[in-house]
Amino acid sequence: MTNANRPKDRDNVEQDQFLTILSREDALSRFEAAVFPRPVPSEPRALADALGCALAADIVAPIDVPPFDRSNVDGFAVRSADLAAAGEARPVRVLLNDEVIACGTAPARPVLSGTATSIATGGPVPRGADAIVMVEHSQPVGPRAIEIRRAAQPGQFISYAGSDIARGEALLRAGTLIGSREIGMLAACGIANVSVARRPRVAVISTGDELVQPGQPLRPAGIYDTNGAIVTAAVSENGGEAVFLGAVPDDEQQLEAVMRRALASCDMLVLSGGTSKGAGDVTHRIIARLGKPGIIAHGVALKPGKPLCLAVCDGKPVVILPGFPTSAMFTFHDMIVPVLRRMAGLPPRSVAKVTASVPVRIASELGRTEFVMVSLVQGTDGLIAYPSDKGSGAITSFAQADGFVRIDALADQMPAGTRAEVTLFTPHVRVPDLLIVGSHCSGLDLVIAPLVRAGLLVRSIAVGSLGGLAAAKRGECDFAPIHLFDEMTESYNTPFLADGLELVPGWRRLQGVVFRSGDVRFEGLATAQDAVRAALADPTCVMVNRNQGAGTRVLIGRLLGDARPEGYWNQPRSHNAVAAAVAQHRADWGMTIAPVAHAAGLGFIPLAEEHYDFALVTARKQRPAVQAFLAALASEESRAALEQAGFRVA
Ligand code: AMP
Ligand code: MG
Repeated sequence: MTNANRPKDRDNVEQDQFLTILSREDALSRFEAAVFPRPVPSEPRALADALGCALAADIVAPIDVPPFDRSNVDGFAVRSADLAAAGEARPVRVLLNDEVIACGTAPARPVLSGTATSIATGGPVPRGADAIVMVEHSQPVGPRAIEIRRAAQPGQFISYAGSDIARGEALLRAGTLIGSREIGMLAACGIANVSVARRPRVAVISTGDELVQPGQPLRPAGIYDTNGAIVTAAVSENGGEAVFLGAVPDDEQQLEAVMRRALASCDMLVLSGGTSKGAGDVTHRIIARLGKPGIIAHGVALKPGKPLCLAVCDGKPVVILPGFPTSAMFTFHDMIVPVLRRMAGLPPRSVAKVTASVPVRIASELGRTEFVMVSLVQGTDGLIAYPSDKGSGAITSFAQADGFVRIDALADQMPAGTRAEVTLFTPHVRVPDLLIVGSHCSGLDLVIAPLVRAGLLVRSIAVGSLGGLAAAKRGECDFAPIHLFDEMTESYNTPFLADGLELVPGWRRLQGVVFRSGDVRFEGLATAQDAVRAALADPTCVMVNRNQGAGTRVLIGRLLGDARPEGYWNQPRSHNAVAAAVAQHRADWGMTIAPVAHAAGLGFIPLAEEHYDFALVTARKQRPAVQAFLAALASEESRAALEQAGFRVA
């Protein structure tokens, strides 16, 4: 057993579950006070390797750029006074000096009055000359002279020494992030090596018995280690050098050994998972032994992210992020990045913000600073920020969201209609061309694919049929995909439409009973009714139901009548969850759609066809992206792809 220390700890874990929760601001300032001041160590780097580093010291220009007065054009170096009287009708003839100044050629002869020297772009201006005449504005007169028919301003077409960068000028300041432009400026000054802030080495450790590294097969009850990848990338994004040490089981001895090794060679340690003060969660107890002052905050009034643990051990920050990836990501960016960037000698990260109105009320827990991810939509008067949270366990919320709004710890809600500041995940928001909010179906991806290939930004937000319908009624999306069965009329979808919405037929999904292939209770049965009868006849047979409000639930209800077999109260919210429950033996039968059953390798007995259609917001029908979607839906390509995937096109 990996958790050898569990039993003896169980007695004293309950009482101190987050006894002292600090506010976000308090926790951050105590954490910073314990880490800083600390010197930012520097190291020399060749220019070619300095990309992305922060300069450790100001750089003063060691030379003038350009280093000499330089011609900007191909032409002739002249004395402007010689040409004062020149005009279209009064050409001035000058003699050519016996040299040609190419790039890289130092002039040997002066330009005396009445003479000119041939010069190339980039050539050094010779003594005596104070202007350049373009070759286009001269005519050769024999091999040794030219005629010029316009006057020249003193200084024309000359870049003077130091006009670009003046020797002694502060070229770049400490803390500047070195990009290609900075590298160009340094190269122009002849600088081949710079002193940069040494990237803090940040050890990244995931903890949990359940974790499996991406690329490995997922074992039963396993979860892919998401935080390892997230934190490693976020460390690199913010000036650190991430050292990923893998996932360590929840075993106190093993974990302590890895943590001690990491601290010996790194400047900072970021763990994730196991931060609750629960029985299996051992990391915080190890931290207490690693060095002074130890834990600074364990429990921060953040949502998501309450179990965050901040510590400093002998000058090195040690952090335990919450296990749920979204919580880990938010807390890392909000609480750890400011410290990491300071350690890396970088300025605070600049964030882009926009103002948008929030169309629905967002409930919030009083006393916790809450971050709510939002998707931006173009409304009639400005941007609309649509909450897109799926709960702290969901990683896809991040992909669908453009940014987040922050709800103050002292607020218990953000009222509908609030004009809120949205912090963007990336500085360039691109509002989607087509917004689909409602029930998700894998068939939808097939219809959208050609639109995306054509360059449209399509966003589909999965909130279920009813949620989509509500968004469509408020006019916040283009389409709401729905599959709602009306028992009164025994029909799909149409009875649910409101004014301003119209139905666009989508496709049919075959619903049926799923079971594991080879289960003799079901194998060979002809109808779903037979299957349910067989299931009810065996008291050890466990079902998996669906959530109230799902179209599938209605179908199950009709088959079951008053029966409440084992598993009835297991009511997941998706077709895929039903298939997973049966495939993984948590249940023996359930109802789902044919493509999902087949993808999961399950046996399938058909019952009825469900209608998956689109409630279209009529006012948005003429939008080009909506028209493109309608065309894609009707196209042969989509129909073929849908049929291929097991759907029947209406
Ligand atoms: P914990 O704080 O360890 O109890 O974890 C809370 C939840 O986050 C559990 O569902 C864990 O499986 C999950 N979790 C913890 N660490 C990771 C990780 N590195 N990647 C993905 N999920 C994780
Ligand atoms: Mg864990």
